[in-house]
Amino acid sequence: MTDLTRLTAADLAEKIHGREVSSVEVTQAHLDRIAQVDGAVHAFLHVDAEGALAAAKAVDEAATPASPLAGVPLALKDVLTTKGIPTTCGSKTLEGWIPPYDATVTRKLREAGVPILGKTNMDEFAMGSSTENSAFGATRNPWDRERIPGGSGGGSSASLAAFEAPLAIGTDTGGSIRQPGAVTGTVGVKPTYGGVSRYGLVAFSSSLDQAGPCARTVLDAALLHEVIAGHDPLDSTSIDAPVPPVVAAAREGLKGDLKGIKVGVVSEFSGEGYQAGVSRSFEAAVEQLRALGAEVVEVSCPNFTYALPAYYLIAPSEASSNLARFDAMRYGLRVADDGEHSAEEVMALTREAGFGAEVKRRIMLGTYALSSGYYDAYYGSAQKVRTLITRDFAAAFEKVDVLVSPTTPTTAFKIGERVDDPLAMYLSDICSIPANLAGNAAMSVPSGLSEEDNLPVGLQIMAPALADERLYRVGAAYEVARGPILDRIPELKGVSA
Ligand code: GLN
Repeated sequence: MTDLTRLTAADLAEKIHGREVSSVEVTQAHLDRIAQVDGAVHAFLHVDAEGALAAAKAVDEAATPASPLAGVPLALKDVLTTKGIPTTCGSKTLEGWIPPYDATVTRKLREAGVPILGKTNMDEFAMGSSTENSAFGATRNPWDRERIPGGSGGGSSASLAAFEAPLAIGTDTGGSIRQPGAVTGTVGVKPTYGGVSRYGLVAFSSSLDQAGPCARTVLDAALLHEVIAGHDPLDSTSIDAPVPPVVAAAREGLKGDLKGIKVGVVSEFSGEGYQAGVSRSFEAAVEQLRALGAEVVEVSCPNFTYALPAYYLIAPSEASSNLARFDAMRYGLRVADDGEHSAEEVMALTREAGFGAEVKRRIMLGTYALSSGYYDAYYGSAQKVRTLITRDFAAAFEKVDVLVSPTTPTTAFKIGERVDDPLAMYLSDICSIPANLAGNAAMSVPSGLSEEDNLPVGLQIMAPALADERLYRVGAAYEVARGPILDRIPELKGVSA
């Protein structure tokens, strides 16, 4: 019998809707796989077998499928609220918190008949690039369990690479969908800012946060994109515009013809600091795009060089404000509530006990950047850089349809290697951050394995805001030309089949 955990979401949907296999069988196969391998991977913080199977049963009993993905199970990043199911954001602060409401993304998934297998591990409050900042232990990269699966959404990407789920949801503030996608050999998309509702997405940096699809193929990502996207009156930054036709674009791309498409290679994202195997994989990918008929030119975006410092002022500033709500009064953890301590002491001691080192570092950085006397010099300047980056994109998109770069400068690094060096960790996002600052759409699609370490490399494709479909057209065409990557993943060692 076919191993249901190896199929794409598109194939699973076809089989489920054709009544060849039931959603309960598909969901159970993934729950079994989770039971078998997650001890070794730790992609999940919480598995909801009962809820997933109930949703699957409802799909099997329905006369017609509620959506093109009805019945296909999914792993949800633990930063999106789920009514009745714990949501921790990878933090002790929220340990045991059960949200009273669903995020809009969660609601849309439920309405689409997508069984939610569980909540995936992440860096605390989505701050990090390795999932090592989770208060509940690191996730391991299924390609090599000594290595990181990327972050902050390492759990979501690892669940795909470990065949624990065919689909997952991530969130991307500075790269947290794309960088984990790159280092696990999976596809990750950050939609245009405002394209997917942020209602119920626990806020890190509200002007940058964006939820998006994670999958093993570009078409699967497109199918999921259309399920979760769309205007939401509950999110004031949600865009009131039609959802870009990403599924049609992916199908068009699968025909393997990119004639008439202009691709710009960002000249700032190469050279020093880029692993040789990553650079070579990127160059091969560019050649491949050319072979598919695309016209390739080099494009300079000079202000992208300042994206990382601008991000590390803006994101912590917004985080310092957003995380003020964890005050020991409204949610989750409360310590020293013994009648001996004042309310202020309870707040301070709770925040001290509940937040990890990276979250505290961000709160301090952000508070400093926003403080009177420094605001203009730090936060104000960073906002100006943000405008310059947006202008670089606008100028580039006058000349080309999409921009490309490596997704991240290196393949998956070893667990522990960068934990004591925040700057080295932050550099993982050097290529992904500009798209967040400008709010446009970007994808990471696997571009093969790096020759030095046989680990996955990601090709980043960037498109203008509201032109997400271009990512899918180019990504799908590239994906078929390149051929599958995940079938080269070694079997998980130490896990019996
Ligand atoms: N790694 C980046 C950070 O630590 C991005 C995180 C994200 O996209 N959530 O802030």
